Amino acid sequence: MILPGQTIGILGGGQLGRMFAIAARRMGYRVHAMDPTADCPTGQVADLEVNAPYDDLDAAREFAKGVDVVTFEFENVPSETLAAIARLRPVHPSPMVLDTCRHRLHEKSFLSAHGFPCAAYRPVHDVFELASAARELGGELGDPTILKSADYGYDGKGQVTIGATTDLQFAWQSMGRPVGVVEAFVDFEKEISVIVARTAGGQTSSFPPFENEHRRHILDITTCPADIEPSVAARAIELATAVAEELAVVGVIAVEMFLRPGGELLVNELAPRPHNSGHLTFDACVTSQFEQQLRAVCGLPLGDPTLLRPAAMANILGDLWSEGPPHWQSALAHPEIKLHLYGKEKPHPGRKMGHLTAMADSPQEARRLVLAARAALRNAASWELGVGS
Ligand code: AMP
Repeated sequence: MILPGQTIGILGGGQLGRMFAIAARRMGYRVHAMDPTADCPTGQVADLEVNAPYDDLDAAREFAKGVDVVTFEFENVPSETLAAIARLRPVHPSPMVLDTCRHRLHEKSFLSAHGFPCAAYRPVHDVFELASAARELGGELGDPTILKSADYGYDGKGQVTIGATTDLQFAWQSMGRPVGVVEAFVDFEKEISVIVARTAGGQTSSFPPFENEHRRHILDITTCPADIEPSVAARAIELATAVAEELAVVGVIAVEMFLRPGGELLVNELAPRPHNSGHLTFDACVTSQFEQQLRAVCGLPLGDPTLLRPAAMANILGDLWSEGPPHWQSALAHPEIKLHLYGKEKPHPGRKMGHLTAMADSPQEARRLVLAARAALRNAASWELGVGS
């Protein structure tokens, strides 16, 4: 067991690590963060920030020696680095879990091998395989398919929709990686995610399903509880818990799913770390996803994941700065709005800079509030205009 006062090492210095570090420091742990970039969001709130490239094995070993346990918030840490660290200190979730989840082919093979439902897919290594996979999965009518890079894909990066008239050579090149996966296009009603925490002793705990809306392939809004049948919610939790158990995750894992008309659930993606859709747990649940990760990796009992009030989260992207600095005070005019900013200096378009959370008597009202608050960041009058309703 790793107890308060001891030190947690986190690989990756983004917002997920930052919120993890806040949760850990609140409970009296020390936090060391490793990230190639100085003054990273996690480093700003950690006890120690180590700046080194992820493939610097000596730096990784030094980092490991300074901590009691290692976890991560960033999936693309090289396997050699994880192996070098794992020889010195426990790493949770295990490098094997990470290897399965961060590579779409490994992930899909794992899901299929264990009978977890996912969209039909084919591995592709060149434009010829792409053509035949798109033909096969698109069927007689030439329905669209999606080409995704097998690795290094996030927020829709490395994804190309393939239609009947798509230039396949161009699509292959824009995917940009040597191996890809072609997936059948899923006609979904909603996207949901379930975040499950699991300890080494096998205790599991799930948050209620989150309902997710994406914009340009990036998560835009999450609402909880999701507007789905209780039986679907129960199945989603069961499915996500079974995935966490099959992978023997120690930590948290987010299972993103498509809900099809008729109630069928398909797993889209696994992320063995806190997830953007779980940000609202920070304000709206008895125990946040970050504290659950901390408890799990430290060998402590899990906390209560109960949602205290219906809630909604809206991401704040760098695009919002295009017309000048956002009006923070306007968004905060409503007392049930919470603002989270990640300490990032440069607001590039598409970059996740922060998020807002709203709590209300219903998920619909929370969603309406959080959208109005986000609109107020640009236009203070939008509260009165009822934007978002
Ligand atoms: P991913 O990076 O796999 O999470 O994909 C990002 C977003 O693209 C998803 O949240 C969906 O909105 C959309 N998407 C991904 N795969 C599919 C699919 N097979 N069919 C339809 N939409 C998809």
